[in-house]
Amino acid sequence: MGKTAPNYDSPTSIKAFLEREGLWVTKRFGQNFLIDRSVRGRIVDALAVEPGMRVWEIGPGIGAMTALILEKRAHLTVFEIDHGFVRTLESLYNSCGDFSVVSGDMLKTWHAQTERPDRIFGNLPYNAAFAIIADLLEQNCVPERMVFTLQKEAARRMVARPGTKDYSSFSVLCASVCDVRILFDIGASSFWPQPRVTSSVVQLVPATSPVPAELRKGFSDFVRAAFALRRKTLRNSLRGWLNGNLAAIDETARDAILLETLLGLGHRAEIRAEALSPGELFALYRELLARASASC
Ligand code: SAM
Repeated sequence: MGKTAPNYDSPTSIKAFLEREGLWVTKRFGQNFLIDRSVRGRIVDALAVEPGMRVWEIGPGIGAMTALILEKRAHLTVFEIDHGFVRTLESLYNSCGDFSVVSGDMLKTWHAQTERPDRIFGNLPYNAAFAIIADLLEQNCVPERMVFTLQKEAARRMVARPGTKDYSSFSVLCASVCDVRILFDIGASSFWPQPRVTSSVVQLVPATSPVPAELRKGFSDFVRAAFALRRKTLRNSLRGWLNGNLAAIDETARDAILLETLLGLGHRAEIRAEALSPGELFALYRELLARASASC
């Protein structure tokens, strides 16, 4: 006979369940369970899952959200790093419709999936949230809708505008691929164990004119280089990138090309990455790529 899930709203029930299963909460994996039923419901509503859709859940834990998605009669694949949780999820949900568990670090396992999902969601481990979202966007695994719960500060960075303190290479990548919206915040008391921070739920839908998939990884690396020395001008911060991409040209000529390109696009010579919009950074990247291929 299958196991019975805990009452996901009750820390006492979850603690007793973990103990019975010989499991424990691991800080390293950012394990905080969402114990607020109404918040779980709002996330499911935001995902707009329809029967038969292929859904990926990242970091299901012991299944608080999993159960709700299976109720929607979706084909659900969950990615969980904690082997103990994997065992438990299998025994709780293997008999509930179309359900499969991929064991291990999601960043290493999702690429092997042969079918792309219609929805992706997850209450993401705080330390891996950026890497997971960036990888999905860079590798063009961008379904019609994604809904992620992450640290409020991280959510702010996703939607930050040029010239603000939260604007970063991650903001540029997100805006270059998706329209991102913060849906609502979740207080720490909605989780067990309680995190020290407030969380936010963000929704990502594909942008109408995203950076083309084949240029995305290269553009993302370029933007990271541009923001790496945040207080420096682009002519300083892009030195290393130019080195690697315009290697056939000597350093003085490389700087002259960058300067010429910046001025040609209507920017000041001493401009910093944080002043440029995602579209302006992409135009600069494309222009420099064209110069790089002309110099080969
Ligand atoms: N979804 C559950 C909930 O809301 O109650 C648990 C969310 S908990 C914040 C994050 C989950 O992600 C944990 O179960 C953790 O083990 C898992 N996790 C952490 N890093 C992971 C990774 N790299 N790949 C897959 N799962 C990961």
